[in-house]
Amino acid sequence: MECQRCPVTAKTLATVLSRKEKFCDECFIKFVSTKQRKQMMKDEFFRNLFKVVYPLEKEGSVGKILLPLSLSDSGSLVMLDIVHDLLLEQNKQHNNHTGFTVDILTISTEDNLPVIKEQMKLLIKEKMLELNEISDIYKVHFIDINEFFNSTSNVSNLIIDDENFEIFAKSRSVGNEDKLSLKEILSEYCLNNSSRTDLTSIMKTQLIKHFAFENGNDAILWGHSMTKLSEVIISLVVKGKGSQIATFLDSESFDTLDNKPCNYKNLYPMKDLLSVEIESFLQIKNMTKFLINVEETNSKPNCLVSKKPTSAINQQKLIKNMTINEITTKYFQDIQNDYSNIISTVLRTADKLAEPKPSTTKTSQCQICQSKIYTNPSNWLDRITVTTPYPRETTEEEHLFKQWQDSKLGQSHTHYVELLNEIKRDSINSDDDSDNNDMQLCYGCLILLNTSIKDKNLVWPRVNTMSSLVNPTSEDKELNDILDQFEITSDVEE
Ligand SMILES: [Zn+2]
Ligand SMILES: [Zn+2]
Repeated sequence: MECQRCPVTAKTLATVLSRKEKFCDECFIKFVSTKQRKQMMKDEFFRNLFKVVYPLEKEGSVGKILLPLSLSDSGSLVMLDIVHDLLLEQNKQHNNHTGFTVDILTISTEDNLPVIKEQMKLLIKEKMLELNEISDIYKVHFIDINEFFNSTSNVSNLIIDDENFEIFAKSRSVGNEDKLSLKEILSEYCLNNSSRTDLTSIMKTQLIKHFAFENGNDAILWGHSMTKLSEVIISLVVKGKGSQIATFLDSESFDTLDNKPCNYKNLYPMKDLLSVEIESFLQIKNMTKFLINVEETNSKPNCLVSKKPTSAINQQKLIKNMTINEITTKYFQDIQNDYSNIISTVLRTADKLAEPKPSTTKTSQCQICQSKIYTNPSNWLDRITVTTPYPRETTEEEHLFKQWQDSKLGQSHTHYVELLNEIKRDSINSDDDSDNNDMQLCYGCLILLNTSIKDKNLVWPRVNTMSSLVNPTSEDKELNDILDQFEITSDVEE
């Protein structure tokens, strides 16, 4: 089997079979890189951002990119590799100058931080250092997702009134004495894995965006493949967050955070690539060693001719134990070899969606995920739902009611009602008017709070204080530590 892209005179053996075409290693790498680079040059804004602009001394001529890197996600690693090759090329062509610099942001949990740092060192050593020695192109940042509450910050204690779906909130500050971590929030409030994953991913996205805002980046490069984007789109629909799709995919407008306009745009440079292609790219370039979950990666489907993924039968979870994200991931992984056109159809259709027209003059933002709210979901749910109970009439019904009240379920309901009344009372008495005037959740988060959170009550950072939770300057210490450490060890070796 020969590569279909090599010239007839120099045919090489095909190693990859994708989209019914046969590639050799080299032609496949070129195919993947070209797809990504095409997205990076998609319009004038991004072309100007990435290319080397002359005169070189002109202020603002060097773009500042934020690249969120997860060492358990192949997509972001492949994206970094292609960006890196582009930088090397520019550096060579433009006499030690590049069109942009890259801030790499890794969000970690405290338990895997040591492993991530080790792998990052490996990556810095093999890739970034070479360029950084010429000019400071890369900066590495870490945020510990569990630790960011440490500085004094404000949280909202949110609760949903199960009679009319209205949201009430009480704010309080957390400080040095009562530290709060995401881990604690998840274990204390979440009733299932789906809600845990959802809240973690909401938090990660917000931290990345706020970091870009505070750090003055021009663009965030997200490592989502076409497959991954389709998964997110379907998950958003399933979770009742369909109205967010257009904003999520938008790479034309500047982002907004907390109703403030931002100076950065979001870009999905890998959106023309299937995840099997990304996995194959990693294998060919021998980059799986940088990942922290190599076994898991090796069991993911790829489109290499020789290397089939190791069997993952033993790891297969029961559907009922899977989160919504895992179910959609599995669906798209199963279909992408034979029905990859479904994946591109999902993405192409979603790409055509526009933002919904708001039903009120002023749009509010969700107090959990910060997305725009176009129609108040509390009012809508209240209109279509009957929540008043049927009155108890007979003594038997009284007896059954008493039994229920004494049961675990009844007791937890009593606790909920007490909590609701307390938060309601506090929020009505609160001087801070801004607190509750605009206390809204998007439909998806409302449903999450109503069904997957204990006592329909959640403590969450106040959206307007999110910026204070990420501090780019303090993160630089981490970076320097790592780069310094590395320089010491590299000196020893040479
Ligand atoms: Zn070839
Ligand atoms: Zn929301």
